[in-house]
Amino acid sequence: MASLLTLEEAQARILAAARPLPAELVEIAVAAGRVAAEDVRAQVALPPFASSAMDGFAVRAADLPAELEIAGESSAGSPYAGRFGPGTAVTISTGAVVPNGADAVVPVEYVVRNDNRVEIPQGTEVGANVRPPGSDVAAGEVVVTSGVPLTPARVAAAAAAGLAAVPCHRRPRVAVFATGSELVAPGDPLRPGEIYEANGLMLAAALAAGADIVSEPPAADDEATLRDALERGLAADVLVTSGGVSVGEHDLVRSVERELGVEERFWRVSIKPGKPVSFGMRGDTLVFGLPGNPVSALVCCELFVKPAVRALQGLADPLPRYEPGRLSAKLRRNTERDEFVRARSRVDGEAVVLEPIVGQESHMIVRSSAADALVHVPRGNGELAAGSTVRWLRL
Ligand code: AMP
Ligand code: MG
Repeated sequence: MASLLTLEEAQARILAAARPLPAELVEIAVAAGRVAAEDVRAQVALPPFASSAMDGFAVRAADLPAELEIAGESSAGSPYAGRFGPGTAVTISTGAVVPNGADAVVPVEYVVRNDNRVEIPQGTEVGANVRPPGSDVAAGEVVVTSGVPLTPARVAAAAAAGLAAVPCHRRPRVAVFATGSELVAPGDPLRPGEIYEANGLMLAAALAAGADIVSEPPAADDEATLRDALERGLAADVLVTSGGVSVGEHDLVRSVERELGVEERFWRVSIKPGKPVSFGMRGDTLVFGLPGNPVSALVCCELFVKPAVRALQGLADPLPRYEPGRLSAKLRRNTERDEFVRARSRVDGEAVVLEPIVGQESHMIVRSSAADALVHVPRGNGELAAGSTVRWLRL
C-alpha cells in the first residue's frame, strides 16, 4: 500500500497530459462560461468620451455660483451640438456627453430651475461628476486575460469594450458511461441481483458545465460489449467510465482499454474512497476509469476528472479549490490514505463549520447526497480534533 501513488502525484500526471483545446472565435452572446484563449483588448476607450455621472446641468465650474441660461440638452445618445461658452448651462443626463467647454456637472438636486434659466447657489470643482474618457480602460488595454472564464462581468466587460466575439478554447467533448452487468435504468423492473444505474447520470450532471456530454447506456461486463462502447467513447476528448477497474474477475475495463491502445498513466491512488481509479491516454483522449461505488466515483470526479476538463477548457487554475473550515467533531486519520469525508457545511459567524454526515461508506450515495462538502483528512496518525481547521471542497 505504501507504494500507491499520492493524490498530488496523480493530479500532476493528469495536468501534464491535459493540454488546453484549440481556440475558436465565439460570439459574445454565447461566450458565457467559456475560457478566453488569448488576452482580449479593448477596441475603444471606456468611457469613449467625457460622460456625465449624474442627471443635472453641465457647467463651467468657474462660472458658479450663478444663474445661467440653459442653452440646450445633452441626453444619452444625443450630444449637445451647440456652442458652450462662458455663462452657459446644458441639461444633461447620466451617461450623456459632457459638452466641449463644460468642465463639471451639477446634480439636479442642487439647482432651482426657472423655465430656460437655472439657479445654482453653490460652487463646484472642475471635474465634478464628469467621468473622463478612458477612466475605466484605455483603447488597446487588456479587458479579459487569457485562461480566465467568461463570467457575467467579463462578458459585459468584453461587450462594453466593443468585442463582438472572443477567442475561446473549444468546449471539451466528454463521453460518459457506466459498466456493470447488474445495472438497470431507473424505472425498469429489478430482477434479483440488479441495481439501478446511478453513476453515469451523476457524472454527466457533474461535468455538463462547460463540456458537451455524450452519454451511452451502461455496458455489461463482457469484453465484446466493453470494446464497442469504449471504442466509441475514445472518439471524445475525455472518456469517463465507472466500474470494472478494481481487482475482481469481472473488472475488465483496464484490460480492454489496453487492447484498444490506451496507455495507462496510473492505476490506484492512496485516497479513500476512490483507490482503484485509473487514468490513461490514447492519442489526445484522456481516459478515466472511476470505481463503481457511487461515492468513490463522485470523489474521483471532483479530484481528477473535473480538473482535467478544466485544463482542456483552458483554465489557468484547474486544480480543486479548497476552502478553510472548522470540524464540528473529531475525525480519525487513515495512516496510508488521504480521506475525503462527506460533510454538511454551515456558516457560524466568520467561520464555516463542517459536520460529517453519518454513513461514510462508499456505497452510501443517498446519505452522501445530503453533503455539500468534501473534507480533506490528510493521511497520518491519530485524529483531527473537534474544532480543528481543515480544508474542504464544495460539492
Ligand atoms: P465495481 O467497481 O464495478 O466493482 O463496482 C463496485 C460497486 O459499485 C458494486 O457494488 C456495484 O454494483 C456498484 N456500482 C457499479 N456501478 C454502478 C453504477 N453505475 N450505479 C450504481 N452502483 C454501481
Ligand atoms: Mg462492476
